[in-house]
Amino acid sequence: MALTSTDDEHDPEGQTTAVDRSRTEALLAGAERHLVDLDAAERRLEDGDYGICEVCGRPIPRARLEVRPTARTCVDHAA
Ligand SMILES: [Zn+2]
Repeated sequence: MALTSTDDEHDPEGQTTAVDRSRTEALLAGAERHLVDLDAAERRLEDGDYGICEVCGRPIPRARLEVRPTARTCVDHAA
């Protein structure tokens, strides 16, 4: 996800500051969660559970892990 807020300053709605702020907060929250996810992924790697869907126990497709290395579920069980 890329930050594309450069043109928002000309937004006639005048809501840009609030929007940008909530977007930034969402990004920060996502980054924090990502760190937790990375931690969990590392643990699963050590336990040998990495790449296994938490819901159905089947292997998560490699293509999905390449896009989302911290995925805990297969595509079918993604939240
Ligand atoms: Zn699954």
